[in-house]
Amino acid sequence: MYQQPDAYGALSMPVYLTASFEFPSAKAMTDAFSGRTPAPSYSRIANPTTTHFEQRVRTVTGALSVTALNTGMAAIAHALINVSEAGLNIVASKHLFGNSVSLMRDTLGSLGVETRFVDFTSTDDVRNAIDDKTCALFFEVITNPQLFVADIRALAELAHERHVPLFADTTVVPFSVFKAHDFGVDVELVSSTKYISGGGTGLGGLIIDYGSFDWSLSSSANLRARVRRVGKRQAFTARLKTELLTNLGALMVPQVAYIQTLGLDTLNLRFQRQASTTLWLATQCRSLKAIRHVNYTGLEDNPCHELATRQFGTLHGAVFTISLQSKEAAFSFIDRLKIIRRATNLFDRKTLAIHPASTIFVTFTDDERRDMQVDDTMVRLSVGLEDPADLFDDIRQACETDV
Ligand SMILES: *Cc1c(COP(=O)(O)O)cnc(C)c1O
Repeated sequence: MYQQPDAYGALSMPVYLTASFEFPSAKAMTDAFSGRTPAPSYSRIANPTTTHFEQRVRTVTGALSVTALNTGMAAIAHALINVSEAGLNIVASKHLFGNSVSLMRDTLGSLGVETRFVDFTSTDDVRNAIDDKTCALFFEVITNPQLFVADIRALAELAHERHVPLFADTTVVPFSVFKAHDFGVDVELVSSTKYISGGGTGLGGLIIDYGSFDWSLSSSANLRARVRRVGKRQAFTARLKTELLTNLGALMVPQVAYIQTLGLDTLNLRFQRQASTTLWLATQCRSLKAIRHVNYTGLEDNPCHELATRQFGTLHGAVFTISLQSKEAAFSFIDRLKIIRRATNLFDRKTLAIHPASTIFVTFTDDERRDMQVDDTMVRLSVGLEDPADLFDDIRQACETDV
């Protein structure tokens, strides 16, 4: 069991709001700066409140190391930068969170890292895209907002056959219920803004390294060079902690680490309640004439139901989508909501509605949106902790004056 490192044994890890840490001697200082002792030196590199949060996540996941950053995007960016170099490529799902697409296509693309976007529900497409310069496979375990599910064991087998690490964004399924590593994921990325923070109270991201990949086989010369110094399994975390965190300066701030540590305490309770409300609501929504289609992997006739159940268990998370007659119908549905809030974000305590095509995906062209299957009749609902019957009443009244 992990011990609280606080000097007073505080039951809630205090927020260490300090930039710097003082040392008793020059020797102690050099020991800390050279990594011989774990004492923090400067909060850009490590802060006790943030380290405590990382260790709590490590206890739950059984990972080799956990790194907390200021946003989910920072976690994804750091993880990809850590393995990539100009001339290498990433093979990524074409069904991804919009900013992950532009990170790879535009930002990493401009640095000479190519991304090949393919359909991850087809292992053949993934296999054909991999070559000797591939530095990572990247996908989301349930895609948002399409809610497609990939066969993770098959992807891991393929990745490892080709000596490529498997990176999974697991934001939509908490690590407390889904053990990504059991399915062969090497590096797990999480936007802790969502389920972990438990209320949209702050942004955060996690890089969870299971230490399962042999980095001496990586296409990254940088990581192969690290292997000689720190070992085959440690190279990824070593570069991340000693080079990227220090140089890019995006370590999670202690205030947020404190709040997200509290979020961990109630994570499973919230997840169970939100997931069961979602199943009930998704089922009820099928009785409403204005709703043409309900998409939720928890519904037994959903094409991904069986695979999702096998991988994630019987609780299918707290996001589902509905399709209305037209874009106009989707807009007026959203405008009429009274309890459900018009906002982006997932797994807040409050239920949130958004029209993905005109918001999160607004910078993409019609053709790109079609290719990503982000339809303009679709409304995404992220279900919170309110009374389920109140939520359904709200959805029903928002449909009423329709068509
Ligand atoms: C929200 C989200 C992100 C980005 O996380 P931020 O904390 O907003 O930076 C990445 N991936 C998925 C699947 C998300 O839902």
